[in-house]
Amino acid sequence: MPQPLLSAERLQSRIDELAAAVDRDYAGKNLLVVCVLKGSYIFTADLTRRLTIPHVIDFIAVSSYGDSTTSSGRVKVTQDIQQEVEGCDLLLVEDIVDTGTTIQFLLDILQERGAASIRVITLLKKEGVEEEDLPHIDYVGFTIPPVFVVGYGLDYAEHYRHLPYVGSLPAADELDRGET
Ligand code: 5GP
Repeated sequence: MPQPLLSAERLQSRIDELAAAVDRDYAGKNLLVVCVLKGSYIFTADLTRRLTIPHVIDFIAVSSYGDSTTSSGRVKVTQDIQQEVEGCDLLLVEDIVDTGTTIQFLLDILQERGAASIRVITLLKKEGVEEEDLPHIDYVGFTIPPVFVVGYGLDYAEHYRHLPYVGSLPAADELDRGET
């Protein structure tokens, strides 16, 4: 099983704080929350259930790591947003930012659609990538060491998403060699 890194209690109390910040920053705005599938579905559900301001939720799916624990460096949209983006204040909800490739790709395609503003909220951000090499991330739940994590929406080969906590898994090459 994964080694616990962030307990369910820590996640939930940090999400209280993040939701309060979003509530405050988006008061009076035309908020469109965009959940980046699949990994951020639980985070999006918990975050939006705490919001008290009016908002609309939509989903976008991108391909990322496939079934491996290392980045392929390629991103493509596999399911697009249904809502009109023009004039909306978009909040992109990510599960984890590692190299920033996924979020930069999404920012590029959504900016072209005429959003009034776009901000990014991520539950997790991995240490190890220089700040200047990353797109600006407006809200970060937790900064974690550069290990592969699962749980609370995040998977390894589609498993572990249901765990209420975030835990670390050995890297894929160690799993292949049975070094668990
Ligand atoms: P980036 O494009 O920033 O390098 O990676 C972001 C995406 O890669 C995330 O949305 C997620 O799908 C995947 N990813 C990055 N690190 C991890 C990790 O530690 N665990 C899991 N399950 N997915 C990860």
